Amino acid sequence: MRKVTMRDGTEVPQLGMGTWMMGEGRRDPKLEAEALAAGIDLGLTLIDTAEMYGEGRAEELIGRVIKGRREQVYLVSKVYPHHASTRGVPEACARSLKRLGVERIDLYLLHWRGGIPLAETVAAFEKLVDEGKIGAWGVSNFDADDMVELGRVPMGFNCATNQVLYNPLSRGIEFDLIPASRHNGTIMAYSPFGHSGGPLRSRALAEVAKWRGVTPAQVALAWAMRHPQVIVIPKASSVAHVRENAAALNLELSPADLAAIDAAHPPPKRKVPLAML
Ligand code: NAP
Repeated sequence: MRKVTMRDGTEVPQLGMGTWMMGEGRRDPKLEAEALAAGIDLGLTLIDTAEMYGEGRAEELIGRVIKGRREQVYLVSKVYPHHASTRGVPEACARSLKRLGVERIDLYLLHWRGGIPLAETVAAFEKLVDEGKIGAWGVSNFDADDMVELGRVPMGFNCATNQVLYNPLSRGIEFDLIPASRHNGTIMAYSPFGHSGGPLRSRALAEVAKWRGVTPAQVALAWAMRHPQVIVIPKASSVAHVRENAAALNLELSPADLAAIDAAHPPPKRKVPLAML
């Protein structure tokens, strides 16, 4: 399993699993649970969720799946910006812990920037670390200027990751956030398939997939994982998709593969405002 080392030395798998729109009754909950369990079996033990996802129902689904195997997973959850206050953070965290059925969330993220001062949110996160309720904290949907501001806040340098949109059709972060993360933490790439599969319909990805004998989804995942400090969290609600995604860990794209993708989906030449879903 390819690993990424977090700022505190914790090793996490480079390929994890997302859970947005799971546990909401859109699919058979049994099949969703089987998909997550299969992913854990295959080593995709980093599971990303949020209090927002199904208003807690994704966390409840995960709670059912990890019962009896808590120690095998690295849990990531997120707090709503409007809960990111001195009082709101511990309250939201307590609700997430309860739904997940655990005593500690490994990594707790601010879902996106809101109106509460960063210094207040960071202080609340640090208190949760001291109390052992979270292992580490980070942010999500922060652009380069937000990261600079965060770095100026007391203890802001403890930020463990910035979770942002990244796939071959949304490459803006290659200009600034990815280079910066080589020094100050990891990037967690969300929506590697563009949420609704846009990158999977790319002719360039299809061609690379064809000549490598793999699928476009596997090309998209290997493409994002070519950066050693980028963690990738595809969401899959079937065992078949989870297996296909896990197999991308065996795929190393060649310079020719990457050049073909660059030709169709060029990397950014200048600053692009952070794209988000
Ligand atoms: P995604 O992972 O880019 O795409 C999910 C879609 O791809 C689903 O329709 C899924 O179908 C399909 N899929 C999965 N494996 C596939 C495969 N091998 N071949 C073809 N299709 C496949 O979308 P996402 O859910 O937006 O992003 C991933 C995770 O990132 C989220 O679940 C969430 O945890 C996180 N996220 C965070 C933020 C944020 O603001 N921080 C925003 C968006 C997402 P099935 O479900 O049928 O398998």
